[in-house]
Amino acid sequence: MAETFGSPSRRRDDAGGPAAGDPERRGKLPPRRKSIEVRVGNIVLGGEHPIRVQTMTTSRTSDREAVLAEARRLEDAGAELIRVTVRDAESLANVPALKAALRVPLVADIHFDYRMAIGSIEAGADKVRINPGNIGGGERLREVVRAAAGRGVAIRIGINSGSLERDILDRYGYPCPEALRDSALRWIERCESWGYRSIVVSVKSSDVPAMVESYRLLAAACDYPLHLGVTEAGPPPYGTIKSAVGIGALLLEGIGDTIRVSLTADSALEVQAGFDILQATGRRLTRPELIACPTCGRKEIDVEKMVAEVKAELDRRGIRKPVKISILGCVVNGPGEAREADVGIAVGRGKGVVFRRGEAVRSVETPAIMSALMEEIERFLAGENGDCLPGPGRGCSL
Ligand code: SF4
Repeated sequence: MAETFGSPSRRRDDAGGPAAGDPERRGKLPPRRKSIEVRVGNIVLGGEHPIRVQTMTTSRTSDREAVLAEARRLEDAGAELIRVTVRDAESLANVPALKAALRVPLVADIHFDYRMAIGSIEAGADKVRINPGNIGGGERLREVVRAAAGRGVAIRIGINSGSLERDILDRYGYPCPEALRDSALRWIERCESWGYRSIVVSVKSSDVPAMVESYRLLAAACDYPLHLGVTEAGPPPYGTIKSAVGIGALLLEGIGDTIRVSLTADSALEVQAGFDILQATGRRLTRPELIACPTCGRKEIDVEKMVAEVKAELDRRGIRKPVKISILGCVVNGPGEAREADVGIAVGRGKGVVFRRGEAVRSVETPAIMSALMEEIERFLAGENGDCLPGPGRGCSL
């Protein structure tokens, strides 16, 4: 599908199934919602492109050294889009330096002052996030769209319940999911009337069930890429859990093209949590996954310690490809519980058994368990499919 400038907006339909080899084909995941493609700097959101993990800096954008250092650190942590707030002339003045410093797309977050959006676009931002309701809508939105279209810059229409239009609030009585959807569609249609379709949309809420329902409604009503997030989720661990439940529920249904976990914490944790959510939902596998038994009265080893050692050994060997590794604390139930894993070990008194997809392949003395497991993992990764490992409900979508 062509990228969006000039491509028609399509309401959702049930266009074709997933390509052969996609996780959806293996029966565990429904197909991803078909969204149009929107270019943001050097990446594309939507379509069949990977679901991207993004985050936002917390430094003052006006503090050049601080925001540059933080943005570079987030990029090193794996962030695939980095958003900075641009709220004044001092912040705007640092947009070119941020753009020059980053390899990943730069997003300018704008509230209230539409001139900051236009300035950010002119200064090199790859996308601007606006809430049309709080920049004054109408003619101001028109000016932002004109600037964005002129430079091939995308706009995220970020709707939130705090700034819904009065008539929509009157219609529903409160900022319910239908109200958020209607507000998003109103601004989408306004942009479309000007021929602009390089749009990403979000309808965040801090209430998880409301957030999930808002996105479901929006997903059914348009096919622009959706940016998922539970807003103001708070500090971890509860903030991470809220985000995982809301974002994860939608991803499992096939909804979502980019995600942001919003935590009251170091933004690098948001990036880690984002990739964890993608991995857990099977929508994007980017690293080895350890499956460890919770242990019980049958355990013969310290599973927690073993997991830490396996993690360290994977790091030491530079093994970063997606592979499911199970570590089980006994040989009695272990093999059955290891069936879903690609490679696993079950450890008993003095010796352990190495498994591959539930089949025992080696029996080794305890001191040799780690090296036997690693050998089997490397053999598996070098095996029939290299980077993309087929398995139940999984697949490499990098
Ligand atoms: S694998 Fe063994 S030790 Fe671990 S939970 Fe199952 S029965 Fe208990």
